[in-house]
Amino acid sequence: MNTSISDIKRHKRELLETHIKGSLNQYSPLFSCDSDAIYVMDLDGFFLPLNPACERIFGYDPGQFAKLNYMKIVTLEHLDRALSFFYKAIEGKLQNFDCQIIHQSGVILDVNITNYPIVVEEEIIGVYGIAKDITEIKQRRRRLTEEIQQREAIYREIVEHSPDAVVIAKSNQILFANDTAIQLAGARYKSDLIGRCINDFIVNEFSDILKERVKQVETGEIADFIDTKLVRVDGKIIDVETKAIPAIYQNEPARHIIIRDISEKKRTQNLLLQSEKLSVAGQLAAGIAHEIRNPLTSIKGFLQLMEADKNVKPTYIEIIKSEMNRIEQILSELLLLSKPQGQKFKQTNLLKILEDVKALIDTQAILNNINITIICSTEIPLLICDENQLKQVFINLLKNSIEAMPNGGDIKIEVDRPEDGIVLIKVADQGTGIAKEHLDQIGQPFFTTKENGTGLGLMISMQIIKNHNGTFHISSSPNGTVLEIALPL
Ligand code: ADP
Ligand code: MG
Repeated sequence: MNTSISDIKRHKRELLETHIKGSLNQYSPLFSCDSDAIYVMDLDGFFLPLNPACERIFGYDPGQFAKLNYMKIVTLEHLDRALSFFYKAIEGKLQNFDCQIIHQSGVILDVNITNYPIVVEEEIIGVYGIAKDITEIKQRRRRLTEEIQQREAIYREIVEHSPDAVVIAKSNQILFANDTAIQLAGARYKSDLIGRCINDFIVNEFSDILKERVKQVETGEIADFIDTKLVRVDGKIIDVETKAIPAIYQNEPARHIIIRDISEKKRTQNLLLQSEKLSVAGQLAAGIAHEIRNPLTSIKGFLQLMEADKNVKPTYIEIIKSEMNRIEQILSELLLLSKPQGQKFKQTNLLKILEDVKALIDTQAILNNINITIICSTEIPLLICDENQLKQVFINLLKNSIEAMPNGGDIKIEVDRPEDGIVLIKVADQGTGIAKEHLDQIGQPFFTTKENGTGLGLMISMQIIKNHNGTFHISSSPNGTVLEIALPL
């Protein structure tokens, strides 16, 4: 006997309708109080609603349902998936999935659909469907995700613009770094840090402490600020303090690490220590100088008496006298070192100060074949300053310049007013210059490259300029050094 596909379909549809009648007889009260839509679909996807919730969820009345096909109610976006689930159900497997449908009114709803095969006499004749309206749950979830995303964006914004360097890390890997962190590490791009191991940036001696702190944060505690040393991308080591806080990054536990550059703080601490030493040295020097001056005066007196005595060789007297002069000179320098405490600010003519200093230093300059010139083409108003201290600054600078020019040359002192309220003094020499690797150390107490140097000249000069609210700038090349001092008028 020849049976066509449409005959089989018709037969199965009849079986399905009989089956439904049976189920309805049995379960109708149960179906009707269910808030989920319960329906049956034939093998072509046509609907047979089983409870009133179908009308509510899909929006069609019983008459319209008969012509309604599954393909018509699923949104285009979800159609492929929904169809494949439908066919899998026809093949005999239970399916559960979320998709979107179009309500009769045009409104799009989120539903969770369960499809499972209806088997009668070992043949699959259709599909049972349960559709649960989950629009509200989905909306709530969407709002929540949006909120989380928004919160993350705000957090990112705050972190990105934080004046502190911030790095987010998981175990030992860097996941995020803000611009300040990039700068602090001396890197150029975020990719120079992201993905790399934290240990690469920590000095070895701190790696044990770091391990401890990682454990601490992983148990939910804050690891408070401690001083460590950071290795920059260029290998330079800087003093930093770091703090680590437990955080969530991209939905996973991570460490939010704050890093602050404290090299400046450390430097000031050191300077303070040094200046403490200096003031002690100054007091000592003053005491010693006085103690030596007294016996020196009586020795000088006796020396004069001896000069009259014909039995003493005049050359001996000359030698003793010149040595005594040297001792006196050293004593006055020692006294100067002990002085800079008391400051006397008053209106002073800057050019006069420079000319006085030049006069004082010129003999030494000429002896070394050096020519000092003062150049000033604008009028300079009176400056409120401590005259003696400024003199000391220029003496220190000129002495350094002379000492850097063993073969003679020119030293130019230029005075200018580059802008209102500021006077700029430039001392330019033609000396040997300062080596690049020494530039950092210039101005540190006791840093000297000279056999008989004290390494105090520039430090004292910088301090004095700072007390005058001025700035001090050094630039140097093998052809000479330029020192620029800007003072407020
Ligand atoms: P000192 O002169 O006793 O060494 P300073 O503080 O005056 O101490 O100078 C520190 C160091 O800076 C010097 O030893 C020298 O190496 C360098 N320096 C300072 N001024 C100059 C200059 N004009 N030219 C070259 N080197 C300089
Ligand atoms: Mg010096």
